[in-house]
Amino acid sequence: MLNKQEAIELFKRSGALLEGHFLLTSGRHSNQYMQCAQVLQYPDETEKLARHLAEAFQEDQVELVVGPAMGGIIVAYEVARQLKTPAIFTERQDKEMCLRRGFSIQPGQRVLVVEDVVTTGGSVKEVIQVVQEAGGEVIGVGVLVDRSGGQVDFGTKTRSVLDMDIQSWEADKCPLCSEGKLPVIKPGSRSV
Ligand SMILES: [Zn+2]
Repeated sequence: MLNKQEAIELFKRSGALLEGHFLLTSGRHSNQYMQCAQVLQYPDETEKLARHLAEAFQEDQVELVVGPAMGGIIVAYEVARQLKTPAIFTERQDKEMCLRRGFSIQPGQRVLVVEDVVTTGGSVKEVIQVVQEAGGEVIGVGVLVDRSGGQVDFGTKTRSVLDMDIQSWEADKCPLCSEGKLPVIKPGSRSV
């Protein structure tokens, strides 16, 4: 298993965890920014992150791994590869989370739900509902990054590779702006 420092280093060297001075879409400023897709472009790093979750659930007789599109697809696939189970994904149709493409869950099937980043946990809760409505048994939730600071409750065994409370401030209270040193970069904008 990765300890917190090893996980942080892995996210940093892959470019998933940036440090600097960022303008978030909320308008707040932060000294860190997480874009999990950056780490998932590297199969060897993804394998290490998924191993952390696979080991956490290896005694739970997982029969199927399910993640929500897009962020959960690669995580589900790699965790399932290591647990030697199938992996499927949910996606939205008319804003409602559902199984498409002929994917199905059997009644009583033991299902692990995975996701890349959890903030409020909304997507994961919707996946849990999809699994339960199909009669599956959710045996746990595994996430790469829990940004809720461990606050989100899925009502089942939950494990994360990294718990991270990313600090942010109102723009007029930002200590980095007060220092007047660093430019603000808006992550995800086309110019970056
Ligand atoms: Zn600032």
